[in-house]
Amino acid sequence: MKKQLGIVGMGVMGRSLARNWAKNGHSLSLYNRRISGSEEGVALALTQQFEELRQAAAYEELSDFVASLEQPRKIVLMVTAGPAVDELIAELRPLLQPGDLIIEAGNAHYLDTERRMSMLNVHKINMLGLGVSGGEQGALNGASLMAGGTPSAYALAEPFLKSIAAKTPSGQLALKHIGPGGSGHFVKMVHNAIEYAEMQAIAEAFEFMYTLMGLDYDAIAQVLEAWNGSSQQSYLLEITSRILRTKNEQGYVIDRIADRAAYNQTGAATLVEGALWGAPLSMVASALFARFISNKKAQRQELAQYAERSLEAVSVSPDELKQAYAFTRIINHYQHFEMIAAFSERLGWKVNLSDLCAVWSSGCIIRSTLLQQLMPKVNGQLSVLFDKAAREELFAQKPSVKKVISAAMENDLPLSSMQAALIYYQQLTQEQSSAALVQAQRDYFGAHGVYLKQSAENLTFYPWPK
Ligand code: NAP
Repeated sequence: MKKQLGIVGMGVMGRSLARNWAKNGHSLSLYNRRISGSEEGVALALTQQFEELRQAAAYEELSDFVASLEQPRKIVLMVTAGPAVDELIAELRPLLQPGDLIIEAGNAHYLDTERRMSMLNVHKINMLGLGVSGGEQGALNGASLMAGGTPSAYALAEPFLKSIAAKTPSGQLALKHIGPGGSGHFVKMVHNAIEYAEMQAIAEAFEFMYTLMGLDYDAIAQVLEAWNGSSQQSYLLEITSRILRTKNEQGYVIDRIADRAAYNQTGAATLVEGALWGAPLSMVASALFARFISNKKAQRQELAQYAERSLEAVSVSPDELKQAYAFTRIINHYQHFEMIAAFSERLGWKVNLSDLCAVWSSGCIIRSTLLQQLMPKVNGQLSVLFDKAAREELFAQKPSVKKVISAAMENDLPLSSMQAALIYYQQLTQEQSSAALVQAQRDYFGAHGVYLKQSAENLTFYPWPK
């Protein structure tokens, strides 16, 4: 009997998705490349290791794998993003027939997805770009799925996607056909950027409490648990308090982890795409730059001796810190929702931000009560900083943000994401900015012209004295 679905790549995500599909009754063919001496019999070993994969067929030859699938074939690629995907598509393409479907489920750059779709379209092979969030646990038990591609490609994939999607708090599936082309991978990329800044904001709150408020790990975990029991509830807060409480015979595990954070391409890709199209993504920039600088460990060690740090007791309460954290999160979500809305408009994708909140409310790493609260606020045109209630909340939180940042500044504690959030808010709420002078400078040295206040549509070239 031919199999319903083929999965290429038996790494962390591929094998977890395979187990989830198998548990949901789909018949599967599994493929992992063979590298003599290091990667041999990978797929076969999984069919022996996991009860639910016993019925799956395992392959190391792509042609046998493709031949094992019922037509039209549906093949999921879950391999390292980048050249590996192009290599596999180049190998698969001659083995496929018009009407077959490739579901590219890794963290591809959305422009790569669009390029691959166009190439496959010439051969009448369908392709869906699928954003998958939720890590290993999500892949195994219910993921958040963001699909991009034609309606016919989506229709072929939908029954399979439905069975592995997480359920949202309101009982819907965390699955959406976001729009055409690379839209699914685009929103997954932006999701990851939100994740970067969410993680950074928690890390800053942790560092503030540990360094300036003198709380120990258990006390900090207790504060974070209280936040998690409030409107600030999120999966990332939940796992952070668990991490802080984790101990073994050598003590707290966090004490033995090096302070150098790794990263993949998605945060940087969001920042670059945003910058190319005028989206001020200072939140992901601050989170990314903090990770980049964390990797300059040798420099930090050498220079630390020149940085006198005066650790003064601070009079900031956990509630004021919580307000600064909440403020940072609103700005983070707003910047990225605004970017998605702008790209959707420019590329004609018609992304429904409310649907996106629903897809991100379950299964994925950034799931939080905030996303559920934002769902009705982003239904339709995105309002500046979401709505009147959110604007009032930000205004009310601002004194706490300033207090936290001032205390951190006094003590040379870099709160890059909280500061970035405050600066963004200050810039966005400043009626008169210094940009007139920047316009004049550009015109003076480069004859770029200026827009005058009374004729904002027409460029004027001013005869500056030289
Ligand atoms: P992984 O554990 O490192 O697995 C990567 C898989 O890709 C392995 O099966 C590997 O085969 C295969 N592969 C790499 N290069 C290949 C090539 N040139 N030809 C054929 N196969 C190749 O990675 P993962 O965590 O499963 O991630 C897979 C994709 O999902 C990535 O795009 C990742 O960004 C994305 N993603 C990951 C997560 C997560 O939480 N891990 C969440 C969402 C999305 P070998 O075993 O033979 O090397």
